[in-house]
Amino acid sequence: MFDLKYRYTCVDRFLRYATYDTQSDEESTSFPSTEKQKKLSAELARELKKMGLRDAAMDKWGYVMATLPANAAKKVPPIAFIAHVDTSPAVTGKGVKPIVHRKYKGGDIRLPKGGRVIKTSENPDLRKMKGFDVITSDGATLLGADNKAGIAEIMDAANYLITHPEVKHGPIKICFTPDEEVGRGTEKIDLKKLGAKYAYTVDGSSRGEVEAETFSADMVVLKFIGKNIHPGYAKNKMINSIKLAAAFMESLPKKKLSPETTEKRQGYVHCTTISGLEEATTLKMIQ
Ligand SMILES: [Zn+2]
Repeated sequence: MFDLKYRYTCVDRFLRYATYDTQSDEESTSFPSTEKQKKLSAELARELKKMGLRDAAMDKWGYVMATLPANAAKKVPPIAFIAHVDTSPAVTGKGVKPIVHRKYKGGDIRLPKGGRVIKTSENPDLRKMKGFDVITSDGATLLGADNKAGIAEIMDAANYLITHPEVKHGPIKICFTPDEEVGRGTEKIDLKKLGAKYAYTVDGSSRGEVEAETFSADMVVLKFIGKNIHPGYAKNKMINSIKLAAAFMESLPKKKLSPETTEKRQGYVHCTTISGLEEATTLKMIQ
């Protein structure tokens, strides 16, 4: 049964989840891409069980699923709430030390580590946060609010519904996935087991925002093959693959087809990585 002592606020939950290193890895071919993601997932399954969600469990791929049974007399289709445990491969998620800026007064936020400053000019949403508590990292790591904020919100909502049976609802499914940040979050998902007619991903950027569609983030990997010769003997022989890749990038339209020159439903291709030597250069793009 539900343990009444088990009471946390949404922020308490978030601060705890943020300390788990769940960074995913784009280069990995295993699933999940990093084993460490499962540590948080296993903990979430345990907590859901402790709340009273009897079927809460993590499968071998690291997906956590649980059911909050219906308590309404009216039959309504099951809905699901989804969030991802992993954080971006771009910035380290090890040793996260969140800072709660109580009753934020406005203005730029100076972080103690790495001389980093969160500027209102670059983050206009901050302006709406005056008077609220704002949580940041200390500057040395990523905070990982994407998507541990979503995880904390879903966990807290489940706890709220369990402790407030007067709020009537249909069957609610909870699903936490690994590897969203590396585009593999749905790879091994068991949709039959989830059994929801509609699902909501709780992974947004500001309050009150609802998105009904998104870009595909489909990836293309382009490999440019060159011919490497010692530069001292290279005349009429060397083909430098770095130059081939650069020429390709240069040939793309400058005023359209980029994230920085498009909005709403306008399409774009976006180069995320380039790496190579004379012999071969790899370019990754998403659209
Ligand atoms: Zn996310």
